[in-house]
Amino acid sequence: EELQHQHHLFKIRNRPDISEWVDKKCEWSVQVLAILNEKFKFKSFRSKQLAAINATLSKKDVLLLMPTGGGKSLVYQLPALITKRLTLVVSPLISLIEDQLMALKKLGIEANTLNASSSKEDKKHVHSSMTDGNSKLRLLYVTPEWVAKSKTFMTYMQKCFDKGYLDRIVIDEVHCCSTWGHDFRKEYNFLGFFKSMFPGVPILGLTATATMSILVDIQNMLSLQDALIITAPFNRPNLYYKVVRKPPDKTDCLEAIEKLLKHKYKDQSGIIYTSTIKDCEEISDSLKSRGLKVNCYHAQLKAEHKKVIHERWMQNKYQAVIATIAFGMGIDKPDVRFVIHHSVPKSMESLYQESGRAGRDGNNADCVLMFSLSDVLRNVSMASSKAEEKYAKSILEYCLDQAHCRRALIAEHFEDTWRQTDCDKMCDHCKYKKVTSSYDVSTALKDILALVEAASMKGVKLTLNKLITAWFETGTKDLRISTVKKPNCTKEQAEHIVGWLILKEYLNIDKGYTMYTTIAYIQRGSNDISNGKVIMPFTSNIGYPRVPDAIDIDSSDDPVVEPVMKKIKKNVSV
Ligand code: ADP
Ligand code: MG
Ligand code: ZN
Repeated sequence: EELQHQHHLFKIRNRPDISEWVDKKCEWSVQVLAILNEKFKFKSFRSKQLAAINATLSKKDVLLLMPTGGGKSLVYQLPALITKRLTLVVSPLISLIEDQLMALKKLGIEANTLNASSSKEDKKHVHSSMTDGNSKLRLLYVTPEWVAKSKTFMTYMQKCFDKGYLDRIVIDEVHCCSTWGHDFRKEYNFLGFFKSMFPGVPILGLTATATMSILVDIQNMLSLQDALIITAPFNRPNLYYKVVRKPPDKTDCLEAIEKLLKHKYKDQSGIIYTSTIKDCEEISDSLKSRGLKVNCYHAQLKAEHKKVIHERWMQNKYQAVIATIAFGMGIDKPDVRFVIHHSVPKSMESLYQESGRAGRDGNNADCVLMFSLSDVLRNVSMASSKAEEKYAKSILEYCLDQAHCRRALIAEHFEDTWRQTDCDKMCDHCKYKKVTSSYDVSTALKDILALVEAASMKGVKLTLNKLITAWFETGTKDLRISTVKKPNCTKEQAEHIVGWLILKEYLNIDKGYTMYTTIAYIQRGSNDISNGKVIMPFTSNIGYPRVPDAIDIDSSDDPVVEPVMKKIKKNVSV
């Protein structure tokens, strides 16, 4: 249910129309640009910065969601110089505050902080600045604890407001308000009073890590129902997206990952996501035994153990962390050069968020998805709602797509705007042009259905594996039938066809339950073959570069020109 909620909201994320704020001619427009150039020494605004600045200067409440390194600080530091009164900034860590104060000092912008270690004189000085109309103090940083605990401070805040000197309240890392996230801080609850205590003072919330459901929670906690939600574009230009076929054999797969870590990603930092704790530990152990410096991270580890692993990874003592989704919120390493999905994630949202932990410093990074149809089938079989089944299928569509830009597919999924030039060969499909043709898979479908029905007569349900073996006339004789001949393609292609037929609902996934697990069976789908042929788009090269071949630096992404569709002649049925 939560996922469904989240998914739905993710989709509406882009609906608030912020275009009016982007090019809005405001009384401050000229000044804003001058300060950007002269004070901050930046040539131009980054995407969404100006819209957020215009909105907050118009006294609108704003929630700004932007990746780390995107430039959120400028969105309140610049307006603080326009309005010439006080901006209060609530920030969770004293160390972060000190970094900011240092940077502002260099720019010649007057800022200060109040915290437990402030001297009596400092406090007195700041307090008097808060109520002095001629004060040069523009930005005052405090922790949420300070807001919650210091009555004196709140008295001065009230005085500052009464005199009309309080311009704006900024809440950094605003997702800490929400109990839904891992970063919840109870002191953030006090910030909920701001809206009623200081009516008319715009609030600007900043975060890099909120899902849409968390944003809604934040809106409720802070009484920001009318806030303008601004999100930076989904496109991350420095991330190279690709899908590779996961080697079906476990050892092959491990070898592939080992090679990647030892060659292509040598001395680079990354994350390998798995979908189960078992996989997570197994892969970590095997890679360790192959001499790699890695460790695993999942929800069943003790908190202090997790902390140590995280720290060692941050310090590059581990090259990679093998992780489940528990390794998420608050993971903020700038130089992550690769994120490998060892299994297909549950949804496009997860894929986007998890792979988005790469390349936060702006330098290029790889996001590799290892695709296997059985992973998708497992996700579908474990889905606890129709909605979750749909997410699992939407990622299947992404994986099976052989022609469209990966980035365009992601943008389309999130209903983000998209220009063809946005990719610039930063995905496997844009980098390697492929010729697309159509293939008649009517016979393949008939054969699959015949096998499914024949098995069903014997009281047997076919898993993907059983179906493929029977189709290729291997495995137990019971499940083979004389009318179905071995198809004219490789097993990989056969799986691709089955996946596509599932996507188009010619085939369906039937869930079975045992004591310990759920199983996915292949059955007839709702889409009927009756009106003639079933034509599947297909590139002349099935286009999954295999991971083991991805280690050579120069030809690292060249698809293996393996006899892929060689045997399947164009327009000849499979
Ligand atoms: P965030 O808080 O979103 O993680 P910061 O505010 O710390 O990001 O900014 C990240 C970096 O981007 C900083 O080095 C900052 O100077 C730079 N930056 C911000 N805005 C711009 C801009 N318009 N042009 C160039 N650099 C910018
Ligand atoms: Mg920041
Ligand atoms: Zn592309």
